[in-house]
Amino acid sequence: MGRVLRSGIPESEVVPKTETQGCGLPEKLGVGQGRMRIKSLPPPFPGPQPAGYRLGLLYSGYVTPERGSRRRLLLALATFAPAVDVGLGAPSTSVLGLASPATTKVPVPTPHSSPAQPSAGKENGTSEQHVRIRVIKKKKIVMKKRKKLTRPTPPVTARPSVTTSPSGTLDLPEKQEPDCPPLGLESLRVSDNQLDASSSQSFGLGPHRGRLNIQSGLEDGDLFDGAWCAEQQDAEPWLQVDARHPTRFSGIITQGRNSIWRYDWVTSYKVQFSNDSRTWWGSKNRSSGMDAVFPANSDPETPVLNLLPEPQVARFIRLLPQTWLQGGASCLRAEILACPVSDPNGLFPEVPMLGSSDSLDFRHHDYKAMRKLMKQVNEQCPNITRIYSIGKSHQGLKLYVMEMSDQPGEHELGEPEVRYVAGMHGNEALGRELLLLLMQFLCHEFLRGDPRVTRLLTETRIHLLPSMNPDGYETAFRRGSELVGWAEGRWNHQGIDLNHNFADLNTPLWEAEDEGLVPDTVPNHHLPLPTYYTLPNATVAPETWAVIKWMQRIPFVLSANLHGGELVVSYPFDMTRTPWAARELTPTPDEAVFRWLSTVYAGTNRAMQDPDRRPCHSQDFSLYGSIINGADWHTVPGSMNDFSYLHTNCFEVTVELSCDKFPHENELPQEWENNKDALLTYLEQVRMGIAGVVRDKDTELGIADAVISVDGINHDVTTAWGGDYWRLLTPGDYMVTASAEGYHTVTRSCRVTFEEGPVPCNFRLTKTPKQRLRELLAAGAKVPPDLRRRLERLRGQKN
Ligand SMILES: [Zn+2]
Repeated sequence: MGRVLRSGIPESEVVPKTETQGCGLPEKLGVGQGRMRIKSLPPPFPGPQPAGYRLGLLYSGYVTPERGSRRRLLLALATFAPAVDVGLGAPSTSVLGLASPATTKVPVPTPHSSPAQPSAGKENGTSEQHVRIRVIKKKKIVMKKRKKLTRPTPPVTARPSVTTSPSGTLDLPEKQEPDCPPLGLESLRVSDNQLDASSSQSFGLGPHRGRLNIQSGLEDGDLFDGAWCAEQQDAEPWLQVDARHPTRFSGIITQGRNSIWRYDWVTSYKVQFSNDSRTWWGSKNRSSGMDAVFPANSDPETPVLNLLPEPQVARFIRLLPQTWLQGGASCLRAEILACPVSDPNGLFPEVPMLGSSDSLDFRHHDYKAMRKLMKQVNEQCPNITRIYSIGKSHQGLKLYVMEMSDQPGEHELGEPEVRYVAGMHGNEALGRELLLLLMQFLCHEFLRGDPRVTRLLTETRIHLLPSMNPDGYETAFRRGSELVGWAEGRWNHQGIDLNHNFADLNTPLWEAEDEGLVPDTVPNHHLPLPTYYTLPNATVAPETWAVIKWMQRIPFVLSANLHGGELVVSYPFDMTRTPWAARELTPTPDEAVFRWLSTVYAGTNRAMQDPDRRPCHSQDFSLYGSIINGADWHTVPGSMNDFSYLHTNCFEVTVELSCDKFPHENELPQEWENNKDALLTYLEQVRMGIAGVVRDKDTELGIADAVISVDGINHDVTTAWGGDYWRLLTPGDYMVTASAEGYHTVTRSCRVTFEEGPVPCNFRLTKTPKQRLRELLAAGAKVPPDLRRRLERLRGQKN
């Protein structure tokens, strides 16, 4: 472990970063990464970090952003400003006709003549507490130094709790819940050119990086850094958001800088508002009338919410850092909570609505609400649904599956089984809701007689597991969509990352391949569980075991594993073939099929196809059609996708559904629209390729566990109990061989066209004489003379 990273720190001393790549893992740097099962992961962030690990890095070679463009923007705003002034006058309920329910709870400031003049500070309240805030400018916060780096403790308890402004310091609105939805810094609904700042250290630390939960690239100083950071010499730094419409700002969430190398966070800030970006007024304490100073962060990752003492209607909002970590810089990531307000004068273009025409339950559902919703769908569509549980989480929550098919509860001969799994990382909440929406949608459309949905339900058996890690989800849900941060709730209750917890079958397969044993001695499919994995002391989560048993019980053909935090479809292998390689293209023998499957999802997902979309964090997957080989992104040993491919017949890809792991509820209709067609079209791909039944020529009975091999593809599939099989293939001519123990092998050619499949490719196998003899003897019969003569003739020949 004596490796030294680029920064000059010994590798062994690097604190693993929470996450950088989608929902990937810190091990991607090669820090502690090996060909081994990862038992559990370090927590997201262990709390205060030793000062010795703050590294003074050089920001050399990076040009500060071109100021001209910003100047042009300000000019454009200035020309627009008069209209704003006329229209709004000043933040006022009467002018804008606010009708939002929250205005009754939290009084909106009284109208005042000039926006530059802050609203009268003191309310004519009677028994107000006279709490004065002493505004201390540039007070340096001294961080406690620790002598030695303590390794992270288990993730469940590690995170400091989310803090809001302590009462007594600020006049807080009564309600502590975020009242208004996020403006969309995290979800990218707020575009880069809506963000501006007093200065920035480099382009990669520009205002466009000041977004909640944004993840940095691998190295500091690159184009994709993990926060907005003002220049060191900037005495009055600010970060500005242009909401583009009159907006009722109600709160601010901040985080520090996401970085492996540095610790930077803001410890307090003020807030200002403007309608024209020239004249500003500050957020005041109601009692003292002084500028409110909001307490901010005490670590880089935990989001801290501050609700404004009084919501303000304006177009622009500025965060003005007052103090920050000593020795660090003024760096932050933020989200703004803001409610749209009506614009009776029609001066602004309409705010595009995030909507869906489907009348579905667009909310986040905790465990109880999810169970209730599934029950409702089951009651609405009893003939095509069945709820079952595949096991329990560590905390005893059931892993519910919704089965949807015309004959729920049974495998019909020739009908393929497909599945969607969501929420193996509990904090990646969108997949869970998409599956709950999908089951409602399929039920509604089936009742309406929609032909596409009816066909899907009659020709396939669909299994939807919305929550593979319900314990992790409950943790994330309690924190809420904006305050959960980037990693809390990812692991199961034991601190296990379920996507590293499946048996590593890649290593035994590749070792056997290197020795030339595959496929003659060692099969290229259905690799058995290694012995160590089945021992009582093996670190296998109950959730993982439940899914493995489920995979073994049902002859699944196709699956997708829904994650969040990026916008890309990744396909197996997820683990690099070269040990210790952090990333390396590692295709399966079914590369063509996997690329096709991934392309189908990415190509029908509206967000992935949006030509104007910007990258989520630090990689632009749209350059490659929004698909990537998992191992070529970052290696994941013990992934569910690799396991599914090597232990069962099922082809599974990972879908990273959105930049935001836990989108706000009001984003759900849009996310449903983004994914609806993709979710349906992907399942329909089970028709691509060949399918059929392998039967005994004499009895016409199906042969279970017969092996279907395709020439040129070193990965076989097997038949289900009834002898039926599905082999996903892209269009082309194939030589297909069916073999089963005790039968003569049969090879035939099958052509897959671009027409809707699957192409029937049936087999009738003849028993070998040896097998007939075996069966007769087992049945206690005497060998008939003709068979005895044939056997004598064949003696010496090999079967
Ligand atoms: Zn994930």
